[in-house]
Amino acid sequence: MAKNRGELMYIPLLIEDFIDEVSHFLNDYNALIEFVEDNFKRLDDPLLNDPEVRSKLQDFYNYIIDMRKLPEKRIMKRMKYIPGMIKRFKLAHLVYKVEKIGNLKPLDTPIKYIKGVGPKRSQKLKKLGIETLEDLLQFFPRDYEDRRKLIPLSLLKEEDKVVTKGKLTSIEKTKRGNLTIISAVLSDGIYQLLLKWFNQDYMENILKTFLRKEVYVFGTVKRGFYGALEIQNPEIEILKDNVREIFPIYSLTEGLNQNVLRGLIKDNLHHVYNYEDVLPDDLKSKRELLDIYEAYTGMHFPKSLFHRKKSRFRLAYEEILYLQLAFLYSRKKTEQIGGISKRFTGRFSQQLISELPFTLTNAQKRVYEEIKDDLKSEKPMNRLLQGDVGSGKTIVSELTLLDNYEAGFQAAVMAPTSILAIQHYKKMYNDLAKFGIKIALLIGATSTSEKSRIKNALKSGDLDIVIGTHALIQEDVYFRNLGLVIIDEQHRFGVEQRKELISKGKVVDTLVMTATPIPRTLSLAIYGDLDVSIIDEMPQGRKPVKTFLVHQSRIEEVYKFVRSEIENGGQAYIVYPLVDDSDKLTVKAATTMYESLSNNYFKDIPIGLIHGKLSDSEKDDIMYKFSKGELKILVSTTVIEVGIDVPNATVIVIENAERFGLAQLHQLRGRVGRGSKQSYCYLTVGDVSRETWERLEFFASTNDGFKISEYDLKLRGPGEFLGVKQHGLPEFKIADIVNDAEIMAIAREDAKHIIENAQDYEYLLNKVKEIYKEKLKLLEIG
Ligand code: ADP
Ligand code: MG
Repeated sequence: MAKNRGELMYIPLLIEDFIDEVSHFLNDYNALIEFVEDNFKRLDDPLLNDPEVRSKLQDFYNYIIDMRKLPEKRIMKRMKYIPGMIKRFKLAHLVYKVEKIGNLKPLDTPIKYIKGVGPKRSQKLKKLGIETLEDLLQFFPRDYEDRRKLIPLSLLKEEDKVVTKGKLTSIEKTKRGNLTIISAVLSDGIYQLLLKWFNQDYMENILKTFLRKEVYVFGTVKRGFYGALEIQNPEIEILKDNVREIFPIYSLTEGLNQNVLRGLIKDNLHHVYNYEDVLPDDLKSKRELLDIYEAYTGMHFPKSLFHRKKSRFRLAYEEILYLQLAFLYSRKKTEQIGGISKRFTGRFSQQLISELPFTLTNAQKRVYEEIKDDLKSEKPMNRLLQGDVGSGKTIVSELTLLDNYEAGFQAAVMAPTSILAIQHYKKMYNDLAKFGIKIALLIGATSTSEKSRIKNALKSGDLDIVIGTHALIQEDVYFRNLGLVIIDEQHRFGVEQRKELISKGKVVDTLVMTATPIPRTLSLAIYGDLDVSIIDEMPQGRKPVKTFLVHQSRIEEVYKFVRSEIENGGQAYIVYPLVDDSDKLTVKAATTMYESLSNNYFKDIPIGLIHGKLSDSEKDDIMYKFSKGELKILVSTTVIEVGIDVPNATVIVIENAERFGLAQLHQLRGRVGRGSKQSYCYLTVGDVSRETWERLEFFASTNDGFKISEYDLKLRGPGEFLGVKQHGLPEFKIADIVNDAEIMAIAREDAKHIIENAQDYEYLLNKVKEIYKEKLKLLEIG
């Protein structure tokens, strides 16, 4: 253990780094002995001031070195104990918790009544979102600075961010124009380092009190003007070991500095004893979790990087575990209500399969089997069907509808737009009516008399399947025996809407479908109460859509290409971007372009216009003509974004593509490439930034919706990626639903265990119910 200056020539080594290194040699005792012998003397750590730490380390040293004299067998035995020794050492000495001192103020105490805060400061804290004592405790650092490594002057290197020490030997003040420079020299007797402060006149007096004393200096080493090393604007303190710590760095606001905030939190951290440590011991030891007090302490003032890591893990795990418990608990409740085990032979669905002009992909067959098992099971189905655009989800839903019908139940299918609802209605009418199934369409535009006919028929059981939009939940619709709910493009709906439709039946099987492929961890965080089936295979013979990025100025070349595709028998979409939220301008943009295109470039080609401001019957009329090939070009806003299926369309032009998110572009591009012909997607862009160009280039380089999602997620973060409003994305303080995949998986596993053994975890479960009261209500509507 380094002490005197001569030995400081070794690059200093922190205890935790030493221990981590040791762990690498557990299979090779010769290497281990050698490592310990060579590196023990490098140990230099503020924790060595603790006599207990010193003696334990010395014992450890002896334990290892003494192995030299032992026979192989006994060495092997000793080696086996080392991992346990290390673990115990870390938990005992690299982790700590604040003391429980003084009176505990309640967590909801307004911040202005907290020690060290007055009315003025409380205003500033408010800006940071800190209004109560609890907010303060949960105001976690945005970063940390490790100031434990003491680097001797002789070993300083440029760009190192270091703590170093020496004696302050001289101070000098110079002026250059209106710049005041205070410089000082730090020396260890042989080596020297220049320190400089710019325009900080007050430093002069402080430094004078430090003159000829041993000090610590913290900052980033730079190469100075004359080639010597220096640190500019360093922090400097008299030699005391508490300077060598891991420093929390908080987000700040004007008039609040790090020291104030740090001090405030330090002075109040003992109030964490308001919290109860709810996690049971068996989980804690299985997952090696810190207790909650150690964890809060370690988030703010970690004793080691080990402490910091473990603290974050503990708190993130806890958050995720609670959420998963809430999901699984609510699911168990619905399962307890019980489902109906549906009985069917599959004769209708088999017939439809045999009449298809294609064979199902293996992925379609697999997910259909999963769904059938659900229908037959006593438990209600809660399944999410994920499959990239064009992967063929609709046919799977049709087969499900047939089996449900054969079992004697009604069904409802909900889609986010009327265009899509109409398309589904036509397709399903075409595929299913021949089995004697009675199907109706219910959308906003449905006439009042037709609506009341449908409602009566649903109530009396004269209708078997209703297909519609939000109208299905807005209207007072009742069913005689609703047994199945299918929701297409589920990401466009909120949890509430899903639940509302489901609540129209007593025991309903639910299938929700989405083309937004979300990474598994995310789906666990958001759809934790759903089983997931994935269609991970495209129908045979599909060719990936070729995507090109072109500058607006070359639009005529694009139109020329569109023309040649149409001459070859294809059809095209030309899409205009969302100009503003009101949709008015977008409609105008599309309308203007429609007029110009139909009067100029495409004068001789039948061309249609579709946008959200048209009535449903007008939309229907246009889509009908386009799907029959009477219209060759469809000029459109984003109303065609989801679900539209016209396999003969082979080219889509998306203008001002920079205005769209990647997920949206992917959906739009999915309108083509639905048949066996090669399809094309042109993205035209204005003068855009390099980032935007790169984003679009990435998009053009792949057809894989999963890759696009991941990229998008990284770029925009989960909130924006999913649209927080629609999803009720869980609000975590610490956990990160994108990056904590590993924690998500183990918390899910533990949550399952807990729910299955609920009698042993009553206390924890009651706590979770308390925390998730509102959320659970929502989840339990069904
Ligand atoms: P999505 O998953 O995007 O909803 P659809 O269900 O609309 O996709 O299917 C896209 C197109 O692929 C439709 O025209 C459909 O008839 C066709 N299709 C579905 N399954 C297959 C298959 N196994 N082989 C060939 N074509 C298929
Ligand atoms: Mg679809």
